[in-house]
Amino acid sequence: MTEDEARKLLTDAMRTLDARGLNRGTSGNISMRFGSGMLVTPSGVTPDRLTPDLMVFVDRDGSVAEGAARPSSEWRMHMGVYNRRTDANAIVHCHARYSTILACAHREIPPLHYMVAVSGGASVPVAPYATFGSEELAAGVVETLEGRYACLMANHGLITLAPALPLAMAIAEEIEEQAAVYCGTFAVGGPKLLDEAEMERIIGAFRQYGQKKADS
Ligand code: 13P
Ligand code: ZN
Repeated sequence: MTEDEARKLLTDAMRTLDARGLNRGTSGNISMRFGSGMLVTPSGVTPDRLTPDLMVFVDRDGSVAEGAARPSSEWRMHMGVYNRRTDANAIVHCHARYSTILACAHREIPPLHYMVAVSGGASVPVAPYATFGSEELAAGVVETLEGRYACLMANHGLITLAPALPLAMAIAEEIEEQAAVYCGTFAVGGPKLLDEAEMERIIGAFRQYGQKKADS
């Protein structure tokens, strides 16, 4: 993929989050691994004002070219995930409403529905609270994401990672749906959870789901 194509994909993805009600205003940020670093959305720019040239290349040492826009305040969190996870090529962070409700209650999403397993685990945990943009937040999120594709961020929002941007976006949308369903179950007596063995089966089944070749 060329740099221009990646910049366009990031711009479109931020607009998509907004259009689907998964994020609003200047909240949230998205990145893609690129070259020796990553391309990330600029800090504090609303989706309607975003353009591909505003995307920022941040090198692995955190350096940014002179004249570039200021990168997302969460660039350390994105870089921290890329440094730890060789399977991450794209990261989506958003303040989707139901995920944020649960994050503000420090309540993980339990195994209430088989689609919770798109997170790579039986539940979606909550990373500890730390100030936005801080090294401490980055470290806590990287730790909580160990072996998973999604986690909530205490008093803040949601983050997902994937080998490619469309999948990171799809996981974010699905986890937000599960967060909404979980909140909804409290109106009808609370969820009846799936057991660990079933969730393990589902995680295994997802590896072969869809149009993947059985032996790939
Ligand atoms: P940025 O605009 O700097 O990316 O910050 C938004 C955000 O969600 C911080 O956590
Ligand atoms: Zn945020």
